[in-house]
Amino acid sequence: MLSVTFLGTGAACPTVDRNVAGLAVQREGETLLFDCGEGTQRQMMRYGVGFSFTEVFFTHFHADHMLGIIGLVRTMGLQDRTTPVTLYGPRGAQRILGAAMSLGIERNKFPIEIVEIQVGDRLQRHEYEIVVFETDHRADTVGYALAEHTRLGRFNPERARELGVPEGPLWGRLHKGETVKLDDGRTVSPADLVGAPRAGRTLVYTGDTRPSPLVVEAARGADLLIHEATFGGDEAERAVETGHSTAAEAARVAHDAGVRRLVLTHISPRYTRDAPELLAEAQAVFPETVVARDGMTVEVGFVE
Ligand SMILES: [Zn+2]
Ligand SMILES: [Zn+2]
Repeated sequence: MLSVTFLGTGAACPTVDRNVAGLAVQREGETLLFDCGEGTQRQMMRYGVGFSFTEVFFTHFHADHMLGIIGLVRTMGLQDRTTPVTLYGPRGAQRILGAAMSLGIERNKFPIEIVEIQVGDRLQRHEYEIVVFETDHRADTVGYALAEHTRLGRFNPERARELGVPEGPLWGRLHKGETVKLDDGRTVSPADLVGAPRAGRTLVYTGDTRPSPLVVEAARGADLLIHEATFGGDEAERAVETGHSTAAEAARVAHDAGVRRLVLTHISPRYTRDAPELLAEAQAVFPETVVARDGMTVEVGFVE
């Protein structure tokens, strides 16, 4: 299971329809938070995202992406949390998050580590990595790609039986790529019964950015691209001035990167909850687009 729950999909300030930036990625029982705008903790409660996460990844430190961490940490302290939390962010993380972590609390009740990451960093996890890439937002900003490792090829049990390989440890060794020797002296190689390695799933979150070739590169072939689309074409100039993207620009990035699906988020308060104009502008360029809504969950499946 790999899914994304949109905790907040609005730009700049909360509205009745949209909270500010926050994403929960849930993967095989693990939860990762990306950005944490004001009110994120309440959105987590509302949409059933538990507080069991241990890592938060910030794209940048504009208020609409980080103010929520102050109250969230406070609440977790009140819940007698002891599990550590690590906060990742671009340059400025130590100073800004360090200050945030001392606001309104005398002493944190659980360990909080702050890690400044850099463009190009690859944070290795058991079955995936988080790749930090550069974005273009007139500040120290990054985006994140969660890329699962390539999976083993599909094991063919019928073929194994035909070849007389007894079910058991030999199957596992073959599946992992080992050539094995049978009791009768024959050898069986993985190529005889294991398919080609299969791609893992990739999801990419831009945070705030102008459309950028660096984002296209980072999103190349991704299963899901979550790209900001603060404005529509009517505000294209304002998008340039403020370092944001229009819906059509985000769609062009998705198209150029050859992603499977695009979700638009970080929508300006000037648009309605459904933002049909943004959807239409984006779909004209890249049909597999939806506009995120608070509470929406998107599953990322394997391509078989
Ligand atoms: Zn923002
Ligand atoms: Zn911003």
